[in-house]
Amino acid sequence: MAVRTKWTVEHLCGHSLIHDLSGRPADRRAGFARWLAGRDCTSCWKTARDADTESKERWLAARRAEEQQAAAEWADKFDMPQLEGPERALEWGEHSRHQLMMAAHTALVVEGAWDEADWAELEEKARTITRAGWWIDQRDAEGADLLELLDAAGENDRGTENPFR
Ligand SMILES: [Zn+2]
Repeated sequence: MAVRTKWTVEHLCGHSLIHDLSGRPADRRAGFARWLAGRDCTSCWKTARDADTESKERWLAARRAEEQQAAAEWADKFDMPQLEGPERALEWGEHSRHQLMMAAHTALVVEGAWDEADWAELEEKARTITRAGWWIDQRDAEGADLLELLDAAGENDRGTENPFR
């Protein structure tokens, strides 16, 4: 009698499905059926995978929105000017500026020797840089280097109608 080709597999998810194992060598079918039994059926596996992808995307979108809001609130609170640049760069620029300014404050004031007057001076310089692309370019910079970076910024990184200048 030949080894059967149709195997009824009770999957981990509880679904019982008939699998055609004729494509596998006769002596491997029982082992493969056991391996299948240790997993969800294909449709349950796909459903779980899609739900996982969807919840990751939702989580990322929510995080982006939160970061964006934090950056906007921060800019408002500290009188940071609107950034200029292409639409798609504005959000990223704001986020980069927020992150770098926070890192600089931590490095220079909280952990460093700067007082509030030193910091106010740096803030004033930061306000003059309104090109979103400049802030995006500095996204990997160390907070402690910010003053040097601000001083190195060129004329076209500064706003055209800057009230702080
Ligand atoms: Zn299932």
